[in-house]
Amino acid sequence: MSGNAKAIFEKGERAPAEYFTGTAWIKLLVPNDPILNVQIGKVVFEPGARNNWHTHPGGQILIVTDGVGYYQEKGKSIQIIRKGDVINIAPDVVHWHGASPDREMTHLAINSNTQNGVVVWQQPVTDEEYKR
Ligand code: MN
Repeated sequence: MSGNAKAIFEKGERAPAEYFTGTAWIKLLVPNDPILNVQIGKVVFEPGARNNWHTHPGGQILIVTDGVGYYQEKGKSIQIIRKGDVINIAPDVVHWHGASPDREMTHLAINSNTQNGVVVWQQPVTDEEYKR
């Protein structure tokens, strides 16, 4: 959904180019809480946008709230993810997530066990990897 009139949350800030390919927007909903050890953000990926390969030392849960996107773990095929899908990502699993080539995708990202670290970034997902 690109119409802001029906959006639940603000669009947020442009995602940093060093960790994202294409245009994405991040709205931090729950800043890292040192008692609960959780951080929650909303990310909107415009068509073709994705984040770099990365890991979460404390794991991550993605809840797709709109659109159609891609999720891939290293060594596995790309999975198509859609509104309503929930993805549990175990600690230290190398992966990336983003939009599909023609559709925007929005997800909530719940970063758990943040006392172990939130994210460790790696290299960008190349066009060749994205189109595979
Ligand atoms: Mn992730």
